[in-house]
Amino acid sequence: MREIYLDNNASTPLAPEVLEAMLPYYREYYGNPSSLHKKGIEAERALKETREKLAGLFHVKTSEVFFTSGATEADNWALKGVARALKRRGKHIITTKVEHEAVLEACHALGQEGYEITFLDVDEYGKVKKEDILGAINDNTIMVAIMSVNNELGTIYPVNEFAKETKTKKEDIIFFTDGVQAFGKLEVNMENVDIFALSGHKIHGPKGIGALIKKENVQIEPLIHGGGQEMNMRSGTENVAGIVGLGKAAEISYENLDKNKKHIQTLRDKFIRTIKEIDDIRINSPEDAICSTVNVAFAGIPAEVLLHALEEKGIYASTGSACASNSGNKSHVLHAIGLDDKYSDSTLRFGLSRYNTKEEIGFTCKVLKEITPELREVTGRK
Ligand code: PLP
Repeated sequence: MREIYLDNNASTPLAPEVLEAMLPYYREYYGNPSSLHKKGIEAERALKETREKLAGLFHVKTSEVFFTSGATEADNWALKGVARALKRRGKHIITTKVEHEAVLEACHALGQEGYEITFLDVDEYGKVKKEDILGAINDNTIMVAIMSVNNELGTIYPVNEFAKETKTKKEDIIFFTDGVQAFGKLEVNMENVDIFALSGHKIHGPKGIGALIKKENVQIEPLIHGGGQEMNMRSGTENVAGIVGLGKAAEISYENLDKNKKHIQTLRDKFIRTIKEIDDIRINSPEDAICSTVNVAFAGIPAEVLLHALEEKGIYASTGSACASNSGNKSHVLHAIGLDDKYSDSTLRFGLSRYNTKEEIGFTCKVLKEITPELREVTGRK
């Protein structure tokens, strides 16, 4: 059976060019970048090249790029590292209720350390109001953390504008964005943003690699201590092949950004246009969401039932976010947007990528149109 992969917000297939770029770093250039011999120097060169690539994309210095084991680490580092470094200045952090668990849980952990965290409300599309951010700032506020794109809904947040307004109100606030779902899909701009977290496996790169882009003037404490790698800020032998893969994946994504966006947008428009012909659905993503994410409720059909019915046809989607489904909890994002149970219990997320085709989307729509009335019959809701 052919497979149609529409869970690209959870993870993406590795691009063949990325794998090709990585293989030599397993086969030949396997040295430790800290070693002084040729094998080490070759590995070190690969790190330097990727650091330069990322610095170029973000228009920052190479000394402002730090490799991590992924975005969960980068998110934790940004929040805990800055909070601890600035604790004498204040202990208040502002974030939203719809952040990824890596941000929410890091904030809860900081709460245990005596920090005060404000979790801002959002509207029915997951949007946060600028006035609410500004209104939450007090003399104790040290950091604002707002994601660039929501991983469940695809809502895009104007983080540069938020950062600018935040700093106008209180100059020394550090503005951090979890940019995982924006990186490689949208232009990135750190004009006013101080810290940006990203991940490799969301952009057809490898898993277990990410980065924190942090402006030089931002104080941060290391989270991981040891041999002093990453400019003494993040110890541990570098994941050289992963870093090379991340660099290649980022390069390809940005070389073809407009082309990919156009392609994915066409798929998204076709998908939404066609599924709107199905009775009683609700598109939970805002109209101006990132084109790669469609979050939609098929009222009356339990999400897991629909997910598995699609899987039987070779189509892979997701209920809420992969992380939320892992813990068996309802999505905190759907809860935060105040979605009625009728819809939140029957919500699927479709994550599109540049590798999806019109034909795949056509087939998925056809299957959805066929199985939704059948499943509503079975589950007693016509
Ligand atoms: N932040 C967001 C918005 C995400 O979507 C994800 C992945 O699901 C993460 C953070 C965590 O990234 P990683 O899998 O690299 O730890």
